[in-house]
Amino acid sequence: MAPTRPGNYRGRFAPSPTGPLHLGSLVAALASLLHARSAGGLWLLRIEDIDPPREQPGATAAILHSLVQHGLQWDGDILWQSRRSAAYDAALAALRSGGHLFACACSRRELGPEGSCQRDCRSRQAAPDGPSALRVAVPADFESQWLDPWQGPQHWPLGRQLTDFVVRRKDGLYAYQLAVVVDDAYQEITDVVRGADLLDSTPRQHLLQQLLGYPRPRYAHIPVLADNAGQKLSKQNLAPALDDAAAPDNLRLALHYLGQPAPPAGVNNTRALLDFAVAHWSPLNLVRAPAVTAGH
Ligand code: GLU
Repeated sequence: MAPTRPGNYRGRFAPSPTGPLHLGSLVAALASLLHARSAGGLWLLRIEDIDPPREQPGATAAILHSLVQHGLQWDGDILWQSRRSAAYDAALAALRSGGHLFACACSRRELGPEGSCQRDCRSRQAAPDGPSALRVAVPADFESQWLDPWQGPQHWPLGRQLTDFVVRRKDGLYAYQLAVVVDDAYQEITDVVRGADLLDSTPRQHLLQQLLGYPRPRYAHIPVLADNAGQKLSKQNLAPALDDAAAPDNLRLALHYLGQPAPPAGVNNTRALLDFAVAHWSPLNLVRAPAVTAGH
């Protein structure tokens, strides 16, 4: 278990080992680190290795190496999601006994928009004969609101109701939404800082926290870096891996994308750059951060 300072800020970075870190993930890691450190808080690391088919061999080692080379030092032990099955099973059991789960045997072809269940498995309550996914039944009146420092006031759902979402997949693997909520509670995370590509996951996570009786962290979503064509910089879009040998330059670039003051020219090692960045962290600058294009 990670070290505790009761009542204090506890942030985290939670990469999935689907590929090495790229500039977009460095920006997200840096934002959550600076937000935590400037609040005198802890910054924890969790490796979200719950999806072996999507894992890339060597990605975890590459991510850890990049973090260390960039001076992004986490507090306490790493939490590995691959070792947390018992906790996820316990959460599923609690959801099941509260009557919040149903089995959905829809095939991939039968699923609707955003992977929604189209066969009304929820009201049919039929015991499926084949393998099935477990979904959470989202209450019709469920709403989630929070004040996001970078995305503004949030009030979900937007328009349509949230669809009943998967917490355990048909192939038996735990879904991201379940694991992230169980582990944020276990690590006593007070503040989640991550990319705005996860904005629509937050209402689902709020619902699970409510159903499981967990405290709700604060959520803040930074703008997502896009390339010149407007495509999100992501592993799926084959954003280039960070060059660890150029860590100080990468940090300077990431600070630029976060709208932060440029460290003076003489500040050139990662430690000094990060000290400067913590001391000058100005979260409000982020809303008017430079145009998010990374041309490399
Ligand atoms: N593991 C997720 C990812 O790499 C991030 C999870 C989170 O920050 O909530 O996209």
